[in-house]
Amino acid sequence: MRVQISDEAVHEALQRVFGFQAFRPNQREVVRAILEGRDVFAVMPTGGGKSLCYQLPAVLLPGTCIVVSPLIALMKDQVDGARANGIRAAFLNSSQLPEERQMVANALQSGELELLYVAPERFAVDSFRAMLRGIRISMAVIDEAHCISEWGHDFRPDYLSLSALVDLAGMAPVAAFTATATERVQADTLLRLALRDPFLVRASFDRPNLSYEVLFKDSADRQILSILRRFSGKAGIIYRASRKSVNDTAAMLRAKGFRALPYHAGLDDREREQNQNAFIRDEVDVIIATVAFGMGIDKSNIRFVIHADLPKSIENYYQETGRAGRDGEPAHCTLLYSQGDIAKVRFFIDAMADGEERARALFALSTVSAFAASAVCRRRALLEHFGEAYSKDNCGSCDVCTGNFDTIDCSVESQILLSAMVRTDERFGACHVIDIVTGSLNKKIKELGHDRIKTFGAGKGRDKKFWRRLVDELLVRGVIMKTEGLYPVIILTEKAVAVLRGEAGIEMLMRADAPKAERKKAEPDP
Ligand code: ADP
Ligand code: ZN
Repeated sequence: MRVQISDEAVHEALQRVFGFQAFRPNQREVVRAILEGRDVFAVMPTGGGKSLCYQLPAVLLPGTCIVVSPLIALMKDQVDGARANGIRAAFLNSSQLPEERQMVANALQSGELELLYVAPERFAVDSFRAMLRGIRISMAVIDEAHCISEWGHDFRPDYLSLSALVDLAGMAPVAAFTATATERVQADTLLRLALRDPFLVRASFDRPNLSYEVLFKDSADRQILSILRRFSGKAGIIYRASRKSVNDTAAMLRAKGFRALPYHAGLDDREREQNQNAFIRDEVDVIIATVAFGMGIDKSNIRFVIHADLPKSIENYYQETGRAGRDGEPAHCTLLYSQGDIAKVRFFIDAMADGEERARALFALSTVSAFAASAVCRRRALLEHFGEAYSKDNCGSCDVCTGNFDTIDCSVESQILLSAMVRTDERFGACHVIDIVTGSLNKKIKELGHDRIKTFGAGKGRDKKFWRRLVDELLVRGVIMKTEGLYPVIILTEKAVAVLRGEAGIEMLMRADAPKAERKKAEPDP
């Protein structure tokens, strides 16, 4: 039997329990649908206010709301937050002692709880499922629902057993939430969860107060320092790919007098917590971290996020940059990227044992590197990745739109490079090919007689940095590719033919403030 709950009662609870004056976009609709007994599938960006969407109905509906959440570390925070609002909440996971779990079970069975957070692996436990059968469930919530999809960036096999929850919920509504869902992941998630005619919500992913910038990484330290000087005394996160680079960057910044601390899974729990707290309490300005950092941190005044290494996927990039500017004030996101980074990630991906996992990681890598290399408005590219159309031609706050760029035609240079590759039978690495086109008379060139080929020195007008960038560009565009193995060489793909024939042009984005030598035009191949 369904209880009728008026709009007034909903609003009253919003103010009384949560202390909020108004709903954020989509919250009212989701709450209404749940109260009417409908299943829900809601895609809302991080910080969009998902918790309220189920915590409010949990307070109003009789019975216990079961929330499945994948991150044990976050459950406690969630429960503390709910309790601070006077909600009767608890959690059950493997981090607890048997006595603690028993206490929660007792509270659950006697109907005292309005909200219970559980880890997905609980659903594999028979006694837990039996316990749920014996209680009144007001609704079931699946947080981070995309974890059920193998196409998501953080697939969790545990999630596959959650369709059991839909059965256990019986007549009670099931609401699935996620902050990251491409069309593909959404379709897959919906299919696997088997929700019953769900109310679908797709909030906009646009973060208008964030500005985006992608820089070609030539010297990470120097580039980080220059950004930090611009944001002196402001809070920011620097993401790095490895623990070692986190430590190195933190040490470098501290040596230069910045208030900075490292954060990664290699630090012991105490130090990690201390560093995180120091950052949250504004005792340090900058935290240098691996992706381990940021899950669930609710610090609103982060003014900049720097990705000093390539993020694993667009989803990661969006989530990590999304931690900036939660207060709605402007915040800046910088991504430093280079082909070297892509190669490093490739190396790790190639070592993955699981073929499917490898394919997913490769797919994510190619999407994120294409994003970095492209000349499309960053905001548009991000939104379109999440299946959202962007109507403006110019977002006004990304490096592409604010015109800090020149698009330069590199078709001739590309032909020079490709023909040097052809003339040396595609048997050499990028460095050697660059030596040929820039006319470097070194030992290897002389021994191989490569100073006699037609394209030797044809690209002298540009420096090596330019040519390395062009190699990157051609790799990203799939005009050339790198072979596997210890001594990778660059080879042509079928796309190269059109470029060599002059049927397809190559344009490259060059920062308008790049050194002049880099921007000067090369002499065409005679
Ligand atoms: P998500 O889980 O979607 O990332 P949260 O539920 O953690 O987001 O909410 C993000 C922040 O927004 C929290 O600090 C929360 O208190 C706040 N918030 C949520 N809904 C409202 C609202 N209607 N009015 C004001 N603040 C809200
Ligand atoms: Zn833009």
